[in-house]
Amino acid sequence: MEQEHSTGSIKRITGPLVQASGMQGAKMYEVVKVSKEKLLGEIIELDGDVASIQVYEETGGIGPGEPVYRTGKTMSVELGPGLLESVYDGIQRPLKAIREQSNSHFITRGIEAHGIDRMKKWIFKPVAKMGDAVSEGDILGEVEETTLITHKIMVPFGVSGTLEEIKEGSFVVEDTVAAIKTANGNVPVSMIQYWPIRKPRPTKGKIFPDEPMITGGRSIDTFFPIVKGGAGCIPGPFGAGKTVTQQSIAKYCDAQVIVYIGCGERGNEMTEVLDEFPHLIDPNSGEPLMKRTILIANTSNMPVAAREASIYTGITIAEYYRDMGYSVALMADSTSRWAEAMREISGRMEEMPGEEGYPAYLASRTAEFYERAGSVICLGSDGRKGALTAIGAVSPPGGDLSEPVSQSTLRVTKCFWGLDGSLAYKKHFPSINWLSSYSLYVDNIKQYWRDHVANDYPEVRVSAMELLQNEAKLLEIVRLVGMEALSNEEKLTIEIARSIREDFLFQNAFDVDDAYTPPKTQYEILKSIMSVYREGLAAITSGEFEFSDFKALDTIKNLGTLKNIKTDAEFEAFRKKAHEEIAQLTVPA
Ligand code: ADP
Repeated sequence: MEQEHSTGSIKRITGPLVQASGMQGAKMYEVVKVSKEKLLGEIIELDGDVASIQVYEETGGIGPGEPVYRTGKTMSVELGPGLLESVYDGIQRPLKAIREQSNSHFITRGIEAHGIDRMKKWIFKPVAKMGDAVSEGDILGEVEETTLITHKIMVPFGVSGTLEEIKEGSFVVEDTVAAIKTANGNVPVSMIQYWPIRKPRPTKGKIFPDEPMITGGRSIDTFFPIVKGGAGCIPGPFGAGKTVTQQSIAKYCDAQVIVYIGCGERGNEMTEVLDEFPHLIDPNSGEPLMKRTILIANTSNMPVAAREASIYTGITIAEYYRDMGYSVALMADSTSRWAEAMREISGRMEEMPGEEGYPAYLASRTAEFYERAGSVICLGSDGRKGALTAIGAVSPPGGDLSEPVSQSTLRVTKCFWGLDGSLAYKKHFPSINWLSSYSLYVDNIKQYWRDHVANDYPEVRVSAMELLQNEAKLLEIVRLVGMEALSNEEKLTIEIARSIREDFLFQNAFDVDDAYTPPKTQYEILKSIMSVYREGLAAITSGEFEFSDFKALDTIKNLGTLKNIKTDAEFEAFRKKAHEEIAQLTVPA
């Protein structure tokens, strides 16, 4: 029988924050229904019998003295088949259901909508057999959730025993599909589970991430790679390309499941995401990308508390697919809006403000979020592995990275793709600054690169990056005394660095042929550019050399066509021709 919970009463209301008295016995993060309208809220602080509640709906019009109903449940997400292809608000209410119930784009209050459809039937195929000893995380059966992803139905956390019964056939998510005999009696298992959003889902532990998450972006994969299970951030001023970069990663990366959290950037921008995402095509399967995507959308007209929760809703769903053994990529755009929501609620609670008004726990909350990323051994006796990669965009006001959200993010993410407003202005995309960006995962994946791409890929990468650093120093000199003051060797550096920037790093996310480059091709392009550099250097040191002759070579003119090459043989042919042409430069007449 449902347990009866006492009812409190509203004392004070300030925006999304409600204080209620008479809440003795309530728990932190308990879900409550506020006022006669039963607005959804969550207890975020308890002081004696007074609870501070963040309310996920507009609080206008409710008043002191109105009731607050306890539910005894913690703020949780629903996990089961039907998550994929969904578009949710920050507290997992399907936007479609909200729209249908409120008959407008503005959300009517007090709407209750299940995160997962209760009526839809799924074909459950058992994997485990009656009599099997099973424990938490073991896979009991499978459901073809979409044409791209098989959903694994797992033994819920904390349950272990003998499989007494397992069914086969067509069921709704709440139907019992299995029963486990445990020390405390029979536990029925359905296809739906609940998990509190603020608590990481357990695993058997993290493992060293040594496999890159390939995005097809040349600047990311070759220069600043991220691993499956890694954490990365994309800071950048307005218009620098954060959204385009995140969407491009979502579309092309080799994670199997994508969770995209759009976090209340200007309202119309979210509308763009909502309009565009359903039309994106998965390049590998040709099917809609949504078949392996969950979209969480906080438009700016949604209450600030839902934005605060959306990050947790998203990462909990991502962990759930990771637990099935999938590689999951989560994008959050932008975490600055999340932090601002946190700041607003903290301000209303009259907490002691830290830097720039953000609460003192901004850094720890940010760290807790990114720590939920990782490459893990999943619960379950089959030893399967899963990975959750988390990438957050940060929008520092004025692009100034010394502000608290950027700083707390930089401390915990190991991959930093710094988008540069001046590069975006010059239409150099992606505007990832090659001098200030970094990845601390390069050593993790060196062996993977050697085994799967090319033995000298790490070395080619380093030499190209050195060239760009040298170019930056030389350009300072050029600015002061002009190009003519440079030696041939320095001119060569500048010419090849230009090619690295324009022919390798520049990549148009909207050009279907250019948007994705496989790692082997990335390597071949860069190796070819660097081979021209080496041949040039050899020519310079071997004798007479006119830089204008070098620049006039077909090889130099053709550097820009390298990214169109498709086969190894063509790359070989390019390098052979480069060798011959450059060698001829120094042959005495
Ligand atoms: P932000 O999210 O940082 O405000 P956007 O991602 O909306 O910026 O990018 C702004 C504009 O820059 C885009 O509309 C697009 O025209 C251009 N852009 C950004 N990245 C790329 C890219 N990789 N390729 C081509 N154009 C890009």
